[in-house]
Amino acid sequence: MPEAIERGLKAALNNGACCIGEIAISKTSSGGFALCHRDDEGGHQNLEASRSVDDASVIARFDDAGNYRPLKTAPNLRRGWRLEVVDVGELRRALDYFYPGRFAILTAWQQNRLATTPLRETLDRQSGMYRVAAKISDDQIDDVVANFCRSDGGCLRTILWNRDQCGGVPSPKLPPQKFDPAQDQATWPGSATQATATRAIPLLCQEACNLLVAECRKAVKGECGDL
Ligand code: SF4
Repeated sequence: MPEAIERGLKAALNNGACCIGEIAISKTSSGGFALCHRDDEGGHQNLEASRSVDDASVIARFDDAGNYRPLKTAPNLRRGWRLEVVDVGELRRALDYFYPGRFAILTAWQQNRLATTPLRETLDRQSGMYRVAAKISDDQIDDVVANFCRSDGGCLRTILWNRDQCGGVPSPKLPPQKFDPAQDQATWPGSATQATATRAIPLLCQEACNLLVAECRKAVKGECGDL
């Protein structure tokens, strides 16, 4: 699988892709790759330089304010760093620290073997304290998904799952771009980053994450005061 992912990564870069999520990728003169926050492109001299792949894990852990980032695809990656890696193998490893599992999912999707799970099915299989999440109403789903998954402040993944087995849209309150892998989630109007739109490798969401399930539970329990 790593080889297939690296082949896909190389192909994407050769086709002009130069960013993923909030990360800009460029080739170095020595044949390696340099990564930085997209908002930091052009300001390399002021960035904290690193050449260790494992530093990606540290960079990805906290936001600019030092808060832990439970959702690695949230648009709150910290700025001020530049990471150089020697080859595509190290690039894959670094990107997997920033966006865990996303390249394996992308590769499966490109090979037409990615299975997606409807939200209702994900909620129905919960147990213990999260079992109650399955009681969420359709109206509540509209609000919870729109609020939690939105690209401008929520999550940069492109949603591939449906609401239920009938194929309903996850939330009519999200724009159609949220479900389009060709759309750069970090730059469409209303998103946080100031970077210009460029060809982006998509971050795909094949099923609701645990954090969204927790939000659904909160809605059922009446704990979502801002919805
Ligand atoms: S369900 Fe998917 S799109 Fe929504 S917040 Fe979780 S990972 Fe992001």
